[in-house]
Amino acid sequence: MNATAPITQDVLTLPRKLPEGGKTNIIGLTRPQLHAALVEMGTPEKQAKMRVGQVWQWLYHWGVRDFAAMTNLAKDYRLKLAEHFEIVIPEVVSRQISADGTRKYLVRIAGGHEVETVYIPEEGRGTLCVSSQVGCTLTCSFCHTGTQKLVRNLTAGEIVGQLMLARDDLGEWPEQGAPKDETRLVSNLVLMGMGEPLYNFDNVRDAMKVVMDGEGLTLSRRRITLSTSGVVPEIAKTAEEIGCLLAVSFHATTDEVRDKLVPINKRWNIQTLLDALRDYPRLSNSERITFEYVMLKDVNDTDADAKRLVKLISGIPAKINLIPFNEWPGSAYQRSDADRIAKFADIIYQAGYASPIRKPRGEDIMAACGQLKSATERARKSRAQIAAEAGV
Ligand code: SAH
Ligand code: SF4
Repeated sequence: MNATAPITQDVLTLPRKLPEGGKTNIIGLTRPQLHAALVEMGTPEKQAKMRVGQVWQWLYHWGVRDFAAMTNLAKDYRLKLAEHFEIVIPEVVSRQISADGTRKYLVRIAGGHEVETVYIPEEGRGTLCVSSQVGCTLTCSFCHTGTQKLVRNLTAGEIVGQLMLARDDLGEWPEQGAPKDETRLVSNLVLMGMGEPLYNFDNVRDAMKVVMDGEGLTLSRRRITLSTSGVVPEIAKTAEEIGCLLAVSFHATTDEVRDKLVPINKRWNIQTLLDALRDYPRLSNSERITFEYVMLKDVNDTDADAKRLVKLISGIPAKINLIPFNEWPGSAYQRSDADRIAKFADIIYQAGYASPIRKPRGEDIMAACGQLKSATERARKSRAQIAAEAGV
């Protein structure tokens, strides 16, 4: 933690849109879903395809939030849309900006639950880290989110909405005067916030369909990375139905250690996971898989671990992303020393794999990987429970 870095926090008082009775939130509906809803509303079948494209352009290209502003549609059609649909994205409760420019949004979704979304600006690009669940059912012993019980899955609209609210805040819509051809501020998206995306598969898939569509939010599938702790049965489905890049929270080289760090390993162990991963690049037509490996002092960071890791993944096109452990209050682990991490990285590099060490971002605002947790969430596991589950 960098205690001296300046923190700015401002509470945004955006107008709260209350759901109006019986209306469907249009944000996050897939093309076929919107098509069907428009036909049901009375749009002639042969016009519906074109209307979907027009409405999507307004919503996702121009960023308008009012049907009345969709001026290439007839006035009574706009009124009809407003009768049937609402345009709702999650509300930003607070925004913190780190000394390094990282922005963390605390976002309120229907029911008053809160999740976090993080924007990480980098040279020539910017990555948005979105949440897929409130809390997480899994209990990885080094992860702050894992201490918070699952409250609910996010809807597709709430997942898409996180990208839209970031664009709002960054002033990235043409409506807000953003220049057309400049590099996008949000150029990449990672499903690495709160929650296990593959335990909310349908909503994550639908959201990504809207995000990836050329008339939707137009982020290509190669700019989207989904991170999973290893929900094996959903991995092939991810390749076939989403086709984005995949990252896997690997974190250990023996089942004994992985059982403690990533308890889902007791259900699908390292070998089962690797078998599922072997097919992913071919199925998704992507180049390689990212293996995430959190560096925990004296737990998983020896030379022998590095050598075993290389052996395990042999034959899988891969990059290994070493994540220095981000500490959080009450965590049972420590970050490996910098020279240990460098040595570990070198062994992997010598074996022919890219082994970038992830630069911790936004630590001063608790926005770094694995630190996300809603401050107001009360349903917490006790420290004793976390330690017992971790076997530490
Ligand atoms: N549930 C998914 C995605 C969210 S976590 C998953 O587990 O993959 C995103 C990444 O942050 C994962 O690789 C996770 O293992 C890692 N992570 C969790 N807690 C961390 C911490 N305290 N320090 C560093 N990385 C952490
Ligand atoms: Fe859930 Fe991922 Fe955290 Fe594990 S690391 S508890 S799967 S969010």
